[in-house]
Amino acid sequence: MRHVSASRPALRHLSTEASPAAAAGVQSGGGGVCFDFTQEQKEIQQLARKFAREVVLPKAAEHDKTMEYPWEIIKTGWELGLMNPHIPGEFGGMGLGTFEGCVITEEIAYACTGIQTAMEANNLGQMPVIIAGNEQQKAKYLGRMTEEPLMCGYGVTEPGAGSDVAGIKTRAEKKGNEYVLNGQKMWITNGAVANWYFVLARTSSDPKTPASKAFTGFIVDADSPGLTKGRKELNMGQRCSNTAGFSMSDVVVPKENVLIGEGAGFKIAMGAFDRTRPPVAAGAVGLSQRALDEATKYALERKTFGTEIVNHQAVSFILAEMAMETELGRLAWMRSAWEVDQGRRNTYYASIAKGFAGDAANRAASNAVQVFGGNGFNTEYPVEKLMRDAKIYQIYEGTAQIQRLIIAREHLARCKMGLV
Ligand SMILES: Cc1cc2nc3c(=O)[nH]c(=O)nc-3n(C[C@H](O)[C@H](O)[C@H](O)COP(=O)(O)OP(=O)(O)OC[C@H]3O[C@@H](n4cnc5c(N)ncnc54)[C@H](O)[C@@H]3O)c2cc1C
Repeated sequence: MRHVSASRPALRHLSTEASPAAAAGVQSGGGGVCFDFTQEQKEIQQLARKFAREVVLPKAAEHDKTMEYPWEIIKTGWELGLMNPHIPGEFGGMGLGTFEGCVITEEIAYACTGIQTAMEANNLGQMPVIIAGNEQQKAKYLGRMTEEPLMCGYGVTEPGAGSDVAGIKTRAEKKGNEYVLNGQKMWITNGAVANWYFVLARTSSDPKTPASKAFTGFIVDADSPGLTKGRKELNMGQRCSNTAGFSMSDVVVPKENVLIGEGAGFKIAMGAFDRTRPPVAAGAVGLSQRALDEATKYALERKTFGTEIVNHQAVSFILAEMAMETELGRLAWMRSAWEVDQGRRNTYYASIAKGFAGDAANRAASNAVQVFGGNGFNTEYPVEKLMRDAKIYQIYEGTAQIQRLIIAREHLARCKMGLV
C-alpha cells in the first residue's frame, strides 16, 4: 500500500515552474548568498522525505538481508517522479537541476543507500546522453525511461581497469554504418537489470593516441545479440543494489548510437561525473545524517554509571564530530551542485564534495556503531548496515585517492591561473 499522497504530475508541475538555474538551491539572488530553499525545493524535499521514511525505510533491513532488487520501491519512486529527475521536459522528464536531484538523493539515502544507489545509477547511465546526446538519441533512450520504470547503466569499468579509465580494453571497430563491440565490463550498477547502457570503448588501434581521442561513447541496448549479462555480485554493503558485469561478443551497434562522434568518449565519460558526483556526495550525507540521528537517539536512552550516555562528554563529543562533518558534507554537495546548475565547471567542487562526504560517512557510521557499543555490532540494530553501506562511497565514481588527485590537479591549475 502506498502512503505517499503526492503524485508524479504534482512533481512535474513543480519542475515546469522552476527552471533548474532559477531554482538552484542556495540562491545568489542578487543580494548575496541565501541558504533558504525555494518553495519548490521544499516541496520536492518533503515528497522525497515522505517516500523515503514511509516506503523505503521500513523495507531497508529486509532488502539488505535478502539482497532482492527493490523493484516495487523503484516503481513507486518512478510514479512519484522521484526517478530520472534530470531528463529534460521535452523528453517527458522533470528537467530538474542537479541541486534538486541532490535534495531527493539525500532524503532517499537517509532511508537506505542500497536503494538510493539503485535509483541513482539511472542518473549516472543517462548523464552521458543528457550532456552529449543528439535530439534523436535523447528522445529514444531518455524518452523511454519516462514512459515506464526502466533502469540503465554506466558501463566504463572493466576487470583490468577502474581508476585508470584509459586502460580499458573493450574495442569498437567500425564496419560500414555500424560498430562491432567486443569486451567485458565489470562492477556495473544495474548491470543485470538495465535496459540499455552507456558503454565506453576504444576505437583507436594506435596505442599512442591520447585518451582524449582514443575512446568512443556508445548507447548499447541490453538485449543486443552478443551481449551477456553477468551474475549479481555479492557485496559488503548496499546489498540490494544490483552490481554486475556484462560481456560483449561481436555486439553490433548502429553509428546512430555514437555520442557526439568517434574519439569523444573519454571526455563524455569523465564530464558526466561533474553532474553525478554531487548526488553521490548527497547520498553519503544522507547516510551520515542517519548515523547521527540513530546515535543521538540511542545516546539519549542508554544508561551507564547511573546516567544516559549522552551525558558523558566523550560520547556527546562523538555526536558533535558527526554533526560537524554532516553539515560540512551537506554544504559541499550544495556548492558543487549549485556551481554546475549555474553552468560553471564544477570539477573541483564535485571532487571535494564526493571525497569529503564519502570519508565523513565512513567516520559517521563507525562512530554510530561505537555509540551503540555491543549492540552496534549486531544486525538487530540499524547501524552496522550503515557501516557496511558507507564503504562504497570511498570507492565508486572515483576512489577517495582519485578525488584527491583531481582536487590537487584542479587546485594547482587555479594557482597557475592566479585564482588562488
Ligand atoms: C558496488 C560498485 C558499483 C560500481 N558501479 C559502477 C558503475 O555503475 N559503472 C562503472 O563503470 N563502474 C562502477 N564501479 C567501479 C568503480 O568505479 C571502480 O571500482 C573504482 O573506480 C575503482 O577502480 P578499481 O576497482 O579498478 O580499483 P583500482 O583502480 O585498481 O584501485 C585500487 C586502489 O588503488 C588506488 N589507486 C589507483 N590508482 C591510483 C593513483 N593514481 N593514485 C593513488 N591511488 C590510486 C585506488 O584508490 C584504490 O585504493 C562500481 C564498483 C562497485 C564496487
